[in-house]
Parts: sequence; C-alpha cells; structure tokens
Amino acid sequence: MGKIVIFDTTLRDGEQAPGASLNIREKLEIARQLAALGVDVIEGGFPFTSKGDFEAVKAVSEEVKDVTIAALARVRKEDIDAALQALESASSPRLHLFVATSDIHLEHQLRKSRAEVLEMTSGAVKYAKRRLPDVEFSAMDASRTDIAFLKEVVKTAIDAGATTINIPDTVGYALPGPFSEVIRELVSDVPAIDDVIVSVHCHNDLGLAVANSLAAIQAGARQAECTINGIGERAGNAALEEIVMALNTRRDHFGHTCNIVTNRLLATSRLVSSLTGIYVQRNKAVVGENAFAHEAGIHQDGILKERITYEIMKPEDVGFAKSELVLGKHSGRHAFRERISELGYELSDDELEHAFKQFKLLSDRKKEIFDADIEAIIEAETSRVPQLFELVSVQTFSGTNSIPTATVVIKTSDGELKEDAATGDGPVDAIYRSIDRITQAPGVLSDYRIRAVTHGKDALGEVSVEVESGDLRVRGRAASTDILEASALAYLHAVNKFLARRRLNADGASK
Ligand code: MN
Repeated sequence: MGKIVIFDTTLRDGEQAPGASLNIREKLEIARQLAALGVDVIEGGFPFTSKGDFEAVKAVSEEVKDVTIAALARVRKEDIDAALQALESASSPRLHLFVATSDIHLEHQLRKSRAEVLEMTSGAVKYAKRRLPDVEFSAMDASRTDIAFLKEVVKTAIDAGATTINIPDTVGYALPGPFSEVIRELVSDVPAIDDVIVSVHCHNDLGLAVANSLAAIQAGARQAECTINGIGERAGNAALEEIVMALNTRRDHFGHTCNIVTNRLLATSRLVSSLTGIYVQRNKAVVGENAFAHEAGIHQDGILKERITYEIMKPEDVGFAKSELVLGKHSGRHAFRERISELGYELSDDELEHAFKQFKLLSDRKKEIFDADIEAIIEAETSRVPQLFELVSVQTFSGTNSIPTATVVIKTSDGELKEDAATGDGPVDAIYRSIDRITQAPGVLSDYRIRAVTHGKDALGEVSVEVESGDLRVRGRAASTDILEASALAYLHAVNKFLARRRLNADGASK
C-alpha cells in the first residue's frame, strides 16, 4: 500500500476564488486547522506577487510546524528569492516552481520557444535546489501540452533536482481516461521518475476535478493537490474531503492510505466556508448539510434496520455528531469547554470565558443549542477584532406602506454612547445608514447573505456581509436569534475590521 501525499492549496489557489479574500489572521487560523487535519503540505501563497501573500507564508511558516509549507514561484530568480525569504522559518519548507508548457500558452502568453522553456526550467530548478532540498515543479497547462514535450520538460526538471513533479489540469480540460493515460505514460517513459513523487492538480470546470485526480492516482500519481470545499479559481479545485473519503471508502480499489484525520473534515469545511463567505451547497458530497440525510421512507427504514443498506460512510467519520443536540440552558462551563474541544476548536481562557457568556445569553433566548450554534459563537469569538464601536441597541420600524426607520445606539472605545437614526429602502438599509452616521466611516455593502444556522423557528440567523471601503474589502459576520440585530452586528464587525486594519496600517489584507 502506498501513501498519498495530500497537498492543500486552500490558502493559495482556494483564496483565488472570486470573493474569497482572507487576512493573515484568518489564513493562520485555517493553516492551524489544516495541520490538525493532517495534511502533508500547506501551500501558503505566491510571495512574489503580493505583499499579503508574502506575509501570510511568513506567518504560517513561523507558527505552524510539523507540516511542509510550500510557496509558489515562477521560474525566475526574483520569484524564488521572495519565496525563500517568506519560507525562512518553516520547519519543512518547499519551493513550488511552475512554468507553462502547452503550445497555446507558449505562443499566446509566455511568448517563449520550447527550447527556452526547457532552459528556464533547468536553470530555475537548479537555482532553487542549491538553496532548498524540497523542490516541486509544475508544468502549467500540462493537460493541453504535447505529451512528447511534456516528457522532455519533466525529465529536465528531474535532472535539475526536482523531487515532486506536478501535472496540473490548469483549465479543467482533462477527462479521467485520457488524463490517466498521460500519467501512465510519464511514469513508464521518463527516466528516473521513480525517484520523485508524481502529483496532480485538477480544476473543476467540467465537474471532473476529483474524478481526474483519482484516475491519476490509479495510474501512479502519489500526491493530490486540492482545496477544502473545492474552492479555487473559476469552478474551483478538486475537493480535499472528496478525494480523501473516496480513497478511504474505496480502499479495496485504490489500496492507498493518507494521513487525514477524517473526523475533522466537517469542522475544517465549516471554518473555511465561514471565513471565505463561500457557502457549501446542501447536497455537497461528504460535508454538505444533506450528505447524510435520508428522506425516502424506504431508505430510512433500511438505515434503522442496518446502516450499511444505504450508507457507504459513517457520518461521524467525517465529523457529523451522532446526536446534534448537545447543550441547553443548564449546561455548565465544563460541558461547554468539553464540547468545544470535541468540535476541534482551541480557545484561550479569555476567549472561552467570553464565548461562555455568549452561550448563556443565547440559551436564554433559545431552548436547544446545537453544534452549529456553538460553532457560530466560536467563530464570532475567534474573528473578534478590537471593538472601536460596539452595538448597544438597535430598533427598527418597518412595514407595508411605511418608511423603514432605524435607531441605533453605539458605544465607542472610550465609553461614549452615541445614537442616531436614519431611514432607508428597508430596515437593514436604515440600520446601516444609522451606523454610518455614527461611525463616520461609511462602507459600500457589496454582499449580504443570511441563513439559518440550525433548524426550528427560534434558530440563530447568521448574517455575512462584505463591505468595501477605499481599497479595502472585508467580511463581517454575526449570528443572533434576531436577524436585524445580526445584520447590525455583522456590519459593525466589518467596520471595526477595516478601521482596525487602517489603524495598524496592516498590509496584505485585501487583494
Ligand atoms: Mn490551479
């Protein structure tokens, strides 16, 4: 049995997903969760291209140990130097070099001949190898590259010292059959390829990213590049949780293992979803809300008699709690702390104390507290920012044939209470106008979403907003049983974030 290396690129390719920009603190939080999940490699970013990426790779290298940290670079000295500098304190650093190899890219974008590409590859891999032992090389657009030339490029990279060879389906063009043939041919024809790990990186433009990755593994690939929830450029990348559960569930077929602690998949999925603001569809494989929900009577009957009649995976194996009702009004600090660590979160004493207070407040308003409620509290806790403005109260007036009006009271960081009122197109608009009048820091609302965190009429409503101010774009979110209060809190969360960022003059937050 072989081991499949799981290379996570949520922080690099995943963050390139339209609308998913993460700040350093959020990236660190995801990186820690990925390390706990057991991924082998975390790709932290592309340091040369943005200061934010540089700082993120640096911070992850400093704080997340016992996992390989990769940084992306083109086959140029400047790129490699920036990546190396960002990786300086990584316990196990990897340089990930790439160059386009398809004629389409060579002709229309890179404007280089095949011979020049070979020379650039050899030069850059050698330059990288003299500085770091772990060098990965990617032939961008490999799936549309002439196979004879692809073999030459791969051989050149191996001769120059690359230890992992990645074959990306950059544009999501590949099909499982032909793609596995490409891998098979490389594995059989390129000299010395047995000494390196063959990797794949598949995109989901035709909905085949996971299928192509698995076909490649079947043909000899030993590393899969993927992202949590499959987020990434355009239609996204291969979903980590799907590849891992396919390998596990069909070990009879693949015969490979990987290091992933599968019962952390759901918590990781939810963290990434809430920090990026990209929700997971209900019917998403493995981590979707309905992934283990049986609706048809005959299925339910079968499940009750014997689980394996209709279930190929156990919900608890990917982190769904067996019974999701966990805590109530009378649950104490101890039970709360216990449940939090079972859910895979780590809080400082201060954060725990504050979160427990929030929990108590919630249990006064809501009879039953579910895991998802606790997650909403913790996520609000871990994404807390300095409270320049704190919501004291919000009141709205709206209805058919009336002008929506809101009155908001806010406490400033020096304890002063400020109140104002405004009208708007609707109650949320009125609230946001009132807040803008008080903070004098108006933002442009570019996204607003609301969803019920759990079920029942007393469920928590979670509001997620994206606010633009100057060149900054930040996300705010909050949950409450009152959706207008949640709307106010989420907007203030975003305003506090961009004001804090501006004060610290923190870099790299937006891109
Ligand atoms: Mn990609």
